[in-house]
Amino acid sequence: MPSLPEKIVDFHAHLFPDELFEAIWRFFQREYGLPVVHQLYARDCIDYLRARGVETIVYSNYAHREGVAGTLNDWNLRLLDETGGIYCFAAFHPGDDDAVRMIRRVFSHPRVLGCKLHFLVQRFYPHDERLFPLYEEVLEQGKRILLHVGTGPIGNEYVGIAHLKKVLDRYPGLKLNIAHMGAFEFRDFFDLLQQYPGIYLDTSYCFLPDNFRMFRLGNSVLESLKGRLLYGSDFPNLFHHRREELDALLGMGLSQDFYSRVFRENAHDLLCTHTGT
Ligand SMILES: [Zn+2]
Repeated sequence: MPSLPEKIVDFHAHLFPDELFEAIWRFFQREYGLPVVHQLYARDCIDYLRARGVETIVYSNYAHREGVAGTLNDWNLRLLDETGGIYCFAAFHPGDDDAVRMIRRVFSHPRVLGCKLHFLVQRFYPHDERLFPLYEEVLEQGKRILLHVGTGPIGNEYVGIAHLKKVLDRYPGLKLNIAHMGAFEFRDFFDLLQQYPGIYLDTSYCFLPDNFRMFRLGNSVLESLKGRLLYGSDFPNLFHHRREELDALLGMGLSQDFYSRVFRENAHDLLCTHTGT
C-alpha cells in the first residue's frame, strides 16, 4: 500500500495579509455561494500545514488590481525573513508605474522563487506586452512564474493555452509552474512538457471529490508525467477539506515512486535549482 512521504512539500498554497484573506473569503462566498472551509490567517496556515507533515510551503499571492503589489511584496519579504522553510511567488501587476523596478528588488530575496500571474483574476492576457519586461527579468535572474492560465475550474477570455503559446514562442526558455495541471486543457499542457523542459504542472484542485474532480484521464498518464508534477493544495482557499484531495490521490493507487516524486522529490530538485538549498 503506497503512502505519502513523511515530510512533504506543498508547492501551491496562498498566504495573504489578514484583511485581504477576509476580502477573498467574502468574495468566494458571494461569487460561488460556498464557504471557504479553512478560514485561517497566514501564521495559522503555516502552523496548520506544518502540524500535518508539510515541511516546506511554497505560497503565492497576487495583485487583483493596480497599486497593491508593492504593499503585498513588502509583507511577503517580512514574512519570509521571519519564517524559515517557506518560499514565495510574489505579486506583480503590469499596470503599476514601478512594476519592473519593484519586482527586480523583490527577486533579490533568495526565497522568492519568482512571481504569480493569475490571468483569470487579474484580467490581462499572458501575451500582454506590458509583461515582456517581467518575462525578461525572470529569465535574467533565473526565476520562475506560477501561472493560473487554464480554463478550469472556470474560465474567461484571458485564460487558455493558445494565449500562453504566444508567450512561449517569444520566450521559450521561461520556467513556469502551471496551476491546476492546466485544467481543462490537460492534454495540450501535457504536450507542452515535451517541448519545454522548464515547465512543471501543479496538482491543485484537480483531484477533489465527486463532481468537483477535474482530472479524469486515468493513472497511466500521471505515471508518465510524474517527473514533472508537483503537489499543490491551494490551501487555505478551499471549498473542501484539504484532506479530501490527499485521500483522493492516495486512493488512486498510484506507484510509490509517484507519491515520492510528486509530494517531495521533484519539489526539492526544483528548489535546489533555484536557490541552491
Ligand atoms: Zn491558487
